[in-house]
Amino acid sequence: MTFSENCRVCPRLSGFLDQVRAEHPEYHALPVSSFGVPGSNFLIVGLAPGMHGANRTGRPFTGDYAGNLLYGTLHKYGFATSAEPLDAEGNANPVLSLRGCRITNAVRCLPPQNKPEPAEVRACNGYLAEELAALPDGAAVMALGLIAHQAVLMAMGLRKSEHVFAHAARHALPGGLTLFDSYHCSRYNTQTKRLTTAMFEQVVGDVTRHVA
Ligand code: SF4
Repeated sequence: MTFSENCRVCPRLSGFLDQVRAEHPEYHALPVSSFGVPGSNFLIVGLAPGMHGANRTGRPFTGDYAGNLLYGTLHKYGFATSAEPLDAEGNANPVLSLRGCRITNAVRCLPPQNKPEPAEVRACNGYLAEELAALPDGAAVMALGLIAHQAVLMAMGLRKSEHVFAHAARHALPGGLTLFDSYHCSRYNTQTKRLTTAMFEQVVGDVTRHVA
């Protein structure tokens, strides 16, 4: 299943994007492509584009709170050339690139209330499967939150009961891949201290040592 920004497989999400595009003509308001080189050693899987983040800028995790912690941490560990997701005009930073890393989402269209339905996660899962199939032996996958974790398992035909989500847990996957779990770096999780910067850096540090 090859990704296209013209995908309209999910009627609820495509209709919602039509509405958002009419209200915000300057927004991307289409399915969001992954960012980074396909087949990198490190694949990050988020949930879905945020309304004023990736849905606006067209780049995953770019323009909202979650991206500040994500790109800041990726820069600290050498996976990003800049810690700043945005340029001075508020667009996706053109000088930010990823090194040995790629970012995607379990669902590539903005869902209402940030909540995709299970059928939408399933519909988009072929795109994630394609990302996972491109990874080299020894690569790391980092799932941001439970839905991303379950989407990775679904894409690989694995049972949830054998791979239970927990922050900082790791799971061996077929093809020599390793899944690292983290709580999602959302504003809610960081403001409630469910996820601290130190906790997030611990997981990215684990990945760094794994792929070194
Ligand atoms: S969520 Fe995925 S499968 Fe559904 S319309 Fe968007 S890109 Fe297509």
